[in-house]
Amino acid sequence: MSVWAETTLGTWGRVHRSRLRAARPLESNAVPDLVRAENDLGVVIHGGGRCYGDASLDTGGRAILTRSLNRIVDFDRAAGEVVCEAGVTFEELSSAIFSHGWCYPVSSATAAVTLGGAFANDIHSKNHHLLGAFGDHTKWVDLVLAGGEVVRASPAENTDLYFASLGGMGLTGAVLRVCIRLMPIPSNSVDARYVPYPDLDAMLDAINGGREIEEFLFGWIDVFARGSALGRGILESGRLAAADGGCVPPPKPRSIPFAPPAGPFLAPAMRQVARRRYEKLPSRGVGVRKDLFSFLFPLDHIKGFNKLYGRSGFYSIHAGFPPAAERAGIRAMVEEIAAAQAGSTTAVVKPMRGPGRGLMSFPIEGMVLAADLPRRRDTPRLHDRLEALVLDHGGRLYVAKDALMSPDGFARMFPNLSAFRAALERFDPNGRFQSDLARRLKIRG
Ligand SMILES: Cc1cc2nc3c(=O)[nH]c(=O)nc-3n(C[C@H](O)[C@H](O)[C@H](O)COP(=O)(O)OP(=O)(O)OC[C@H]3O[C@@H](n4cnc5c(N)ncnc54)[C@H](O)[C@@H]3O)c2cc1C
Repeated sequence: MSVWAETTLGTWGRVHRSRLRAARPLESNAVPDLVRAENDLGVVIHGGGRCYGDASLDTGGRAILTRSLNRIVDFDRAAGEVVCEAGVTFEELSSAIFSHGWCYPVSSATAAVTLGGAFANDIHSKNHHLLGAFGDHTKWVDLVLAGGEVVRASPAENTDLYFASLGGMGLTGAVLRVCIRLMPIPSNSVDARYVPYPDLDAMLDAINGGREIEEFLFGWIDVFARGSALGRGILESGRLAAADGGCVPPPKPRSIPFAPPAGPFLAPAMRQVARRRYEKLPSRGVGVRKDLFSFLFPLDHIKGFNKLYGRSGFYSIHAGFPPAAERAGIRAMVEEIAAAQAGSTTAVVKPMRGPGRGLMSFPIEGMVLAADLPRRRDTPRLHDRLEALVLDHGGRLYVAKDALMSPDGFARMFPNLSAFRAALERFDPNGRFQSDLARRLKIRG
């Protein structure tokens, strides 16, 4: 589809679907004309479609689909640098570099995310406490601006554009190419360890204890448990193995063919799954060697995992708290989600090292709680309460995983919003780059 065609696009949460006109360029040099075309309509850049909410949709507008721009343009094996088109996914990049002893330092938890999408949300991984966010390893990007001009931006060149675009939700321009610095890896294997902790305090203590020593670190939380078991879960840590060999076989690929009706049975079923997951692990924990790809992308072997939450789709909440409020903030959120029995089997806590480099980057120093919330009639009200808790504790929400945040909350959480608005005014004064998210959060003011 290199010309515009009417289509329907959705995103990971399966709540939002948009009718719009879409074009799928096959060559990077087609993008400037597509951005310029059809003067009266805005345009959104749609990568892997793995944002949860409305960030990569522009209802009634246009979308440039980048997945066919998936060439690895240059791979310097000696220096450990790679230049990719924006539609290259972590899966495609893994195939090209892992066997040569290199890995990207930061990825998301699914390999279907594109590098353009990773830059536009300055994504963070389960090693943020040591390696920071995606932008900490990006050398430069080439962007198509609203007028169609192609500009290289980096921390040393066109810096205003660069720092507005990193985490800028695709609103400053379309990323065409990304150059990232890779990290050497001794093997394609990870020695992972899984240890259960009986409550939230024990889990958060263990995370803080592991910050300096574990390469990968995060905790899965059973958000259905209440009372003295509130916040119990399994701490997952990992270190790159010195050599390959001895890995457990990767899980068999599976596929969820259709979404079941959500109904009243969903929460009890997930509560059982969470309880069994916690209880079946021996209290001393287990160690296992995994191949790097399965370790980084644990759910990708289940195609259509997002259908498991039922036909109504799901929301998510992904909150970061500063160190002084991380314990109280996370506890208050887990209490709220557990009291409503409104969570799912996917809820995690992760440590964070410090602020991202982009004006609108999500990461801060402290800790993150992320939880999927199957869509129910009361989910928006629950989200409102959670958003208020996050604000009370000086935290912020991650737009890539959100679809219900209020414009007022957003403005209070991101102190650089006025500088970002000034950058948008400068680089895209007519508001060419649009999205449903930008309108919902009144990002342009
Ligand atoms: C299962 C799962 C696990 C995840 N885990 C993590 C995680 O661990 N850490 C984390 O930080 N995030 C995580 N995410 C969120 C995900 O990394 C982000 O939403 C990411 O931005 C999605 O990228 P995408 O290629 O799918 O882009 P899309 O979803 O298509 O778009 C996302 C945003 O990026 C913009 N964009 C995309 N491509 C470009 C481009 N070429 N130029 C300019 N703007 C562009 C879009 O306009 C939109 O604003 C996860 C998502 C899923 C579904």
